[in-house]
Amino acid sequence: MSNKFPIMKTHEPKAKPNPDTLEFGTTFTDHMFLMDYDESAGWYDGRIVPYSSLHLDPAAAVLHYSQEIFEGLKAYKNKDGGIQLFRPDMNAKRMNMSADRICMPGIDEELFVDAVKALVTLDVDWVPDKPGTSLYIRPFMIATEAFLGVRPSKQYIFAIILSPVGAYYKGGLAPTKIFIEDEYVRSVVGGTGTAKVGGNYAASIKSQVKAHDFGYSQVLWLDGVERKYVEEIGTSNAFFVINGEVYTAPLNGSILPGITRDTAITLLNDWGVKVREERFTIEDVYQASSKGELSEVFATGTATVISPVGYMLWKNNEITINNSEIGELSQRLYDEITAIQIGAAEDRFGWIVGI
Ligand SMILES: *Cc1c(COP(=O)(O)O)cnc(C)c1O
Repeated sequence: MSNKFPIMKTHEPKAKPNPDTLEFGTTFTDHMFLMDYDESAGWYDGRIVPYSSLHLDPAAAVLHYSQEIFEGLKAYKNKDGGIQLFRPDMNAKRMNMSADRICMPGIDEELFVDAVKALVTLDVDWVPDKPGTSLYIRPFMIATEAFLGVRPSKQYIFAIILSPVGAYYKGGLAPTKIFIEDEYVRSVVGGTGTAKVGGNYAASIKSQVKAHDFGYSQVLWLDGVERKYVEEIGTSNAFFVINGEVYTAPLNGSILPGITRDTAITLLNDWGVKVREERFTIEDVYQASSKGELSEVFATGTATVISPVGYMLWKNNEITINNSEIGELSQRLYDEITAIQIGAAEDRFGWIVGI
């Protein structure tokens, strides 16, 4: 590790949560990483301090025009008790792509990974070890300059917080019900859909609420122009198995380039399964379903890894996928990815970074 950071330890360590009832993103560890940026000084003062509130001027730019980006990755306890990260270099790269899209300053990728390692090392007792649990890592950057105007801020904070999280599905991989949104859109080519910027998610909440009201757990997004091409599912990338081939939307400028997406495609290719990264419509999916050719639908993302879909609703027409049971590829991907993440399967692609 070439970057070292001063550490101010907490005098009031918190009680650890019960590992059996861990939820997603509700408890946070004892410490956090902070680093400041000023236009004239660049990034400075990277440090680890007790987890606490941030002090912001009420005019801080992030509070008004939403210059904010974030990342999400996890640390896992392996069978020898060591701690490992999964592809953190990809998060560092993507954070810089997101930063560039909304005119925020980039961060040295090695420094990003070193900061994650240093913080996880300090709060290592917070990494849960029950099967399916992990320590979720949330790096983010906000614009802090106090001014009311639309231009890049001259000051920023980069922070990392940690949250022990449970198995996303308590009873194993349970298929979800997906609502296909044909009113609101998430993203258009030329917009910010390829970047992990907070504003994207604020804009998506209304559809999420709508889906819940109809009894569905997630939204499937169609393209923002014609509302017919399949794009993503909630905050995950979407995959469809049709006639034994796997379809997923291409990275054409409105899709978030998921790291789990890339991982799944790499493994599928390695297994000799044909993956088609090409545009296809929701009509194509429904036709494949009516012909009995749609065998699996699943979503990929860091939080859930693989999330199989059991039902989809589009224009009042609900279809059932694979009897709402987990498909073979979904299960195989889930098993293989999670095994690599906890060190139970060989890391053939060099995805694991120990700390
Ligand atoms: C974070 C995210 C994903 C998944 O990315 P991973 O790197 O696999 O976690 C997919 N779509 C959206 C919109 C996201 O925000």
